[in-house]
Amino acid sequence: AKNKGKNCYSAFVPEMELRAQKRLAMESNLRKALSNDELYLHYQPQIDLRSGRIVGIEALTRWTCPELGPLSPAEFIPVAEESGIIVPLGRWVLQTACRQAAAWRRDGLLDSVEHVAVNLSACQTRDSGLMADIRAVLDETALPVGLLELEITEGVLMENVHANVELMQRLQDAGIHLSIDDFGTGYSSMSYLKRFPIDQLKIDRSFVHDLPGDGEPIATAIIAMAHSLNLRVVAEGVETAQQADFLRRAGCDIVQGYHYARPMAAAQLTALLRERQDW
Ligand code: C2E
Ligand code: CA
Ligand code: CA
Ligand code: CA
Repeated sequence: AKNKGKNCYSAFVPEMELRAQKRLAMESNLRKALSNDELYLHYQPQIDLRSGRIVGIEALTRWTCPELGPLSPAEFIPVAEESGIIVPLGRWVLQTACRQAAAWRRDGLLDSVEHVAVNLSACQTRDSGLMADIRAVLDETALPVGLLELEITEGVLMENVHANVELMQRLQDAGIHLSIDDFGTGYSSMSYLKRFPIDQLKIDRSFVHDLPGDGEPIATAIIAMAHSLNLRVVAEGVETAQQADFLRRAGCDIVQGYHYARPMAAAQLTALLRERQDW
């Protein structure tokens, strides 16, 4: 722990070294993780507030490292990004999620599901091979292109507006749906939003957490803005019935969060898709 004054320095350095060491260990382990089959996906349903049906599924990467134990994506995704591992990792996520979606579809389990969403990192948006990778995966799996949705955070989009508008236009021309993740935490204005060819905004979990209450003006404003731009709105991180009630009354379209279902293994979601038709 950090102390005040003189002690601060001596306590701070080892802590930083420890963190750097963990990062290095993570990076070298992450390089092996892909080929050693240590990564897997969890899937979290997204529920339409009007019909109560599952209309979307978000794929989230999980990693249990044999040496470091289970790690959260909040820890290893940034390491993957800084080391460039995110490009092959992202390709693997896309492939695995599309294969799973194709299998669910063949079994008739995606009748109410409009989108299967995959998160795209900053490095992937800059990778010139992205379109080719997506095309190859769609070809291989024969997944209808319209089922695929890519989530890009508002922060990543705003890093390079011009290049990202171009990329998103190409993705949309190919029939892929686009969603802005963690919306409200970045700095996009309405005029920027109009330039991005997107389908959906996801209200960041931090605002949903403060519903009802301090999150209300922001959630209400995002919903109004999204609808005026003809975009769907998803609220992420919905944990309570009170949050869900507020969002329903505010006209939010879709909800995702522990109140409905946690991210789960593919087999669990298969069972859920079979058994549960609505909420
Ligand atoms: P995200 O894209 O905003 O994903 C939503 C996160 O919120 C997930 O955390 C999910 O498990 C969590 N969550 C869902 N419902 C609730 C809830 O009701 N309450 C709370 N407190 N949390 C909830 P997770 O899986 O730990 O992922 C964290 C972040 O790591 C993701 O945030 C995303 O930015 C990144 N990530 C995860 N998988 C991938 C991936 O395959 N590729 C990329 N580029 N990023 C990924
Ligand atoms: Ca996401
Ligand atoms: Ca998010
Ligand atoms: Ca978030």
